[in-house]
Amino acid sequence: MFKCRKAGAVMDVSSFLVLPSTLTVDRVEQNAEALTIFLHATTSCVCCPTCGTAGSRVHSRYFRTVADLPCVGQRLRLKLLVRKWICPLDSCPQHIFAESFPGLARRYARMTDRLIQALQALGVTANGADGAYVSSSLAMPTTAKTLIRRVLALPLPKDRSVRIVGIDEWAWKKGSPYGTILVDLQHRRITDLLPERSVESSTAWFKKHSQVKIVSRDRGKIFRAAADAGAPQAKQIVDRFHLQKNFAEALEKFFGHHKRLLKAAAHQLAGKGQVPETGATPQKKQERNNRYTERVRRHKKIWKLSRAGYRKDDIAQMVGIGSRSVYRALEQEQPPTQHRRRWSHHKVDPYLSYLAKRWNEGCHTAKELYEEMVTQGYTGSLRAIERIVAQLRPYGTKSVTKQAITLQKVPSPRNTALMIVRPVEKRTADQTMFIDQLCKSDPTAATVCTLAQAFGSLLRHLEGKPGLEKWKAAVQASGIAELISFMEGLADDAEAVVNGCTETWNNGMVEGFVNKVKWIKRSSYGQAGFPLLQRRVLLHPSARESLGKDQRRRSSRKSAAPPSLDTSGIRSTPTAIAVA
Ligand SMILES: [Zn+2]
Repeated sequence: MFKCRKAGAVMDVSSFLVLPSTLTVDRVEQNAEALTIFLHATTSCVCCPTCGTAGSRVHSRYFRTVADLPCVGQRLRLKLLVRKWICPLDSCPQHIFAESFPGLARRYARMTDRLIQALQALGVTANGADGAYVSSSLAMPTTAKTLIRRVLALPLPKDRSVRIVGIDEWAWKKGSPYGTILVDLQHRRITDLLPERSVESSTAWFKKHSQVKIVSRDRGKIFRAAADAGAPQAKQIVDRFHLQKNFAEALEKFFGHHKRLLKAAAHQLAGKGQVPETGATPQKKQERNNRYTERVRRHKKIWKLSRAGYRKDDIAQMVGIGSRSVYRALEQEQPPTQHRRRWSHHKVDPYLSYLAKRWNEGCHTAKELYEEMVTQGYTGSLRAIERIVAQLRPYGTKSVTKQAITLQKVPSPRNTALMIVRPVEKRTADQTMFIDQLCKSDPTAATVCTLAQAFGSLLRHLEGKPGLEKWKAAVQASGIAELISFMEGLADDAEAVVNGCTETWNNGMVEGFVNKVKWIKRSSYGQAGFPLLQRRVLLHPSARESLGKDQRRRSSRKSAAPPSLDTSGIRSTPTAIAVA
């Protein structure tokens, strides 16, 4: 009998190999490549897999090799001596059958079940190439293709009962069709992933999950129609983030129509008083208008071709522009608005204090300032400095501050809108100063800011229907067309909007999980098809476990400590194995 020895202890190898009790170890061979264990089964009779009759006559024997989990860094191979049995039932079409090893390896498998499980765990958490690299360095050599095949063979998790669901979209890639993600908000886990974003597929999902009580969604038509049709019993909630986002878009429209207010506030802050008229000559203005007309014409052409069914790349070629520009144009059906591009100072920003100091010391030459800044690591252009110096000329010998330079930059309507919807305590000092000045310089802008803060506050503090009605009345009284239009838009989905201002559930977590899907998708270099992506998302350890924030913190602390091995049952190492 095969035994191993270490420090006088003698034990049976099969006791720590974790083998079925019907298998006995014959011998162990070791070479540079792997550790090979020879085994045979000890059962005296085996049932025929076709008719179930127990056979007791052995026809022949052969060796079957299966790879097993590595043993202390060495590849491990099991050589199973398989007996072929004769079926005693004459009428059975299966005259001869080979014995199987349930619990160890499936029929015809070249790997043990536990090795397959280890590879599947690797395949779910890493892409094919990375997983194959890690498994090979852990003495389980495999290829990326095998690993992916193993993951694809995994069954999807069983449908679990979901009561509170968040639904949103995720993009296959920029400009590509979207998929749908469904998150169990109560248990903080992804519950399903759909390959497309359509009313039909989402409706079908809701119909299959009749236990859904609450649906959190954006203001789009697709998920709304799906929830209406598939889950009429559920309460729908418009996500607060999307409400705030749509509101910011309304603000952007307002400031887009009132850019002069932004300009005036910026110039007053910079200490210039009146807004200087732009020095554009009629000829320059004409050129600018021509360019804008051309942009609108191109935008309309792109949309026309897109409606005619042309692919984005083909449209790019036909119009003679880059495909990125086509993607951008197709994001918005409205033609672009006319605006002038602002000079970006980002490379100059860290040197503004120095610039102001040198200006006040009397250095007013752009070239000289540029050379001094280059020695300090400035990598921008001389032109950028020349522009700033030109802006400072009107100050003459008066002293200037850093703000006088930064605030020359008039914030865009979009940036202003984002500044305004931010909670007051989260604004930077520059933003606070700008918004205060904006409110001081124009009463309508002040009303807009007050309404924006009130809207943010009613969403954050869940003020519900009374708060919303009060806010709506204030908007109506203000007479600001852009905000009234936003408010009227809410009436279309009134019940869900009121729920959004009342219920604590929202899609923040769904956005987080969308990021996770993106990360998994990109870790496969965008090559994974839907079945693989779906398994990698739904079978990922974090998707299977439902953990609260506190639990997650605790578990991450636990996993930071090295895993403790239960060594009590193991007294010998494979290198100490010798045939007795
Ligand atoms: Zn049989």
